[in-house]
Formats: sequence, structure tokens, C-alpha cells
Amino acid sequence: MKPSVLVVEDEDALATLLRYNLEREGFEPRLAGDGEEALIAVDEQLPDVVVLDWMLPKTSGVEVCRRLRNRRETRNVPIIMLTARGEETDRIRGLEIGADDYVVKPFSMAELIARIRAVLRRIRPGLAADQLKHGEIVLDRAAHRVLRSGREVHLGPTEYRLLEHFMQYPGRVFSREQLLDAVWGSDVYVEMRTVDVHVGRLRKSLIGEGETDPIRTVRSAGYSMQS
Ligand code: CA
Repeated sequence: MKPSVLVVEDEDALATLLRYNLEREGFEPRLAGDGEEALIAVDEQLPDVVVLDWMLPKTSGVEVCRRLRNRRETRNVPIIMLTARGEETDRIRGLEIGADDYVVKPFSMAELIARIRAVLRRIRPGLAADQLKHGEIVLDRAAHRVLRSGREVHLGPTEYRLLEHFMQYPGRVFSREQLLDAVWGSDVYVEMRTVDVHVGRLRKSLIGEGETDPIRTVRSAGYSMQS
């Protein structure tokens, strides 16, 4: 699954260029033109990384960063700030208020993309790794294979993507809606209970004789990988 990047930038030309390059590099970019739009976009779908311009109309980048850091759901989302040259004190403040990194304008796309990858590797190793491990479960992305305690687990494509999603964020609880967006895509119409059906199939395949259930059902909230 592609890592999603929310680009918050009010300069249209730069935003378009960022979107084009991020798509080409295998990311799933979304754009927001100001701070308010950014906060709404984050509520709709939690991005894997936020690229946040410092100078924005209405709500500033600093304020957006502060608000994201103050909310439980968005506290750990990596934020890379874009600052103008010479705003040295701004940069320091950016890191103080919780940005993970910053890039000074004008920057090269290669530099920004390298920073995004670095932040993803550091904060969500799952998004960059070829192999995900959780307890006795191993998901090998290169070979497209899943093993539990050395035994091969055969999964359908949807169950595989579900497991991959859970393993990228062990312990995090996902609502059925979030799972639909992440695994099926937000532009597909699928009934909520489809998620339950596939989680059921995933469990059935994963749990062998005498093994524990690696997936936790969180009452009225959704599902998560046991942490
Ligand atoms: Ca700006």
C-alpha cells in the first residue's frame, strides 16, 4: 500500500508540482490549500506524513502543527515543515512545537522525498520495510508470503492487505471505515460488514491449532493487531 502524504501548501504551482512528484515516487498525495482545509483533511483520513508550509492563510502552519500534536489521533503523524530561507528562528520553533523535520525553500524534489522516506523509516518502519514481523507472524512483501511460527499462511488478496495494514501499525485501533479506506480504497462502495467478513477470514487463516488470536476486536471501535 502506498504511503499517503498530505501536502498543505497555498501556492498552487508548488502544490501541483509536489503532487506530481509524490505520485511518481509511489506516494499517495492529497492537497490542502490552507490550515483549515488541512485539519479537515486529516480528520477525513489520517495521512502517513504531513508536508506543511510555514506561511499559510487563515491558520498558520505552526498552529496546524500545534493542533495536530495536541490531539491523540494525530499526535504521532510525522510532520515536515516547509520554511522560507533565512527563517532560522522559525525553524527552531517548528522543531520545538513538534515538527519532525523541515526543508528550506527553494528545495529540490529529491531532497524533500528523501526527507519523507527518512521520517517514514524512523517513525513507521513498517511502511518502508520489505518484511514485517509481529510476534510469530512474518509478512514478506517481496515474496508476498505470510508465515506464522514458520508455517505458511494462505490468504486471499484482501486478507493479505488487511494483515499488512494491521502490521504496519501494531496496537493501533482502526474503525471499519478506516479499514475500508485503507484496504479497499475510499472510492469503492463496500458495506461496513464486509470488513467483519474479511477480518473473520483473516483470523481463520492465521489461527492454527492452539494458537492465540492476533487480532483484537475493540467493542464499538473496530479492530487492531494485538500489541
Ligand atoms: Ca505559503
